Amino acid sequence: MVRYINVKSRARTEFIDITGQIQEVLKEAGISSGVCTVFVPHTTAAVTVNEGVDPTVQRDIQTFLNKIVPFEGDYHHREGNSSAHIKTTLVGVSLHVLVDEGRLVLGTWQSIFFCEFDGPRHRRVALKIVASDKKQA
Ligand code: ZN
Repeated sequence: MVRYINVKSRARTEFIDITGQIQEVLKEAGISSGVCTVFVPHTTAAVTVNEGVDPTVQRDIQTFLNKIVPFEGDYHHREGNSSAHIKTTLVGVSLHVLVDEGRLVLGTWQSIFFCEFDGPRHRRVALKIVASDKKQA
């Protein structure tokens, strides 16, 4: 079973903390130990783990990505959003997070961010949670 969470972006580029939403899905699924795969089924959005306490970190990452992959450039893609496609490939569309005692195993400062590169849009994120038995723990 694949579960989905909905994300609504409000800007062209935006990092949205989805850690709480994923944690809620874990709780509903009743999984205490295992692995959660987070997959973004879009070509102009990505997912990453980074600092969730100081928002200037997310801002700096976005500023840097916009600098190395500018919105306008010598692109051929007619839709006009090549920078978003390139940023998506650089950041990546999936990650795995360990689950233990019903909680995502994240560092103190870490959060999971949905990375919008071509917003604002309604998006969704797919989650696959695989529970492990005690022998594998
Ligand atoms: Zn496109």
